[in-house]
Amino acid sequence: MLVLSSPSGAGKSSIATALLKADPNLVLSVSATTRPPRPGETDGVHYYFVDVPKFEKMKAEGAFLENARVFDNYYGTPRVHVETQLAAAKDVLFDIDWQGTQQLRQNARDDLVSVFILPPSMAELERRLRRRGQDSDEVVKKRMARAADEMSHWHEYDYVVVNHDFDQSLAQVQTILAAERLKRGRQTGLKAFVASMS
Ligand code: 5GP
Repeated sequence: MLVLSSPSGAGKSSIATALLKADPNLVLSVSATTRPPRPGETDGVHYYFVDVPKFEKMKAEGAFLENARVFDNYYGTPRVHVETQLAAAKDVLFDIDWQGTQQLRQNARDDLVSVFILPPSMAELERRLRRRGQDSDEVVKKRMARAADEMSHWHEYDYVVVNHDFDQSLAQVQTILAAERLKRGRQTGLKAFVASMS
């Protein structure tokens, strides 16, 4: 389970998309959210867009691995897809906030690798948020205010990448993934493999 967190606008989504494209063994955990879709977002691909009653129902039924309120909306990770993918020996990528990461860490510490993406500066973060042009001024202001809050949790993560340059940041996250996959405890069947050589 690979978690990427960052304030919105730090480049996390682009890194996530490129990671998934380059690695067939990595699949995205698609979250449920009560926020409305942005232009270009597709239900079931970027998010499962649900209303508040449906979200509450899923929560009450224990359908979420983790869930949190972010800005004025609710977000949650549906459990079934993640468990199916992990059972099929896939690695799962999560684009979730610090609250969700804390919950996953409590439930699955050994299986979790967490990466925090920092923007190169607050000025650059604001520039990226404005350039994206998908949110109103009011929303951008709110997100800037929340960015400081989100960033205050950087030290809870296993790795921190400062996103000065997209290609470099992508390579750094891929390096983390490659190294974590090589950890002794994650290489199942190693004991039998070595025994077969002696
Ligand atoms: P956005 O609305 O911009 O897509 O996402 C806002 C924030 O919510 C981002 O920081 C994103 O990582 C976080 N987020 C998205 N899905 C989930 C989820 O399922 N759980 C949690 N805890 N956070 C999420």
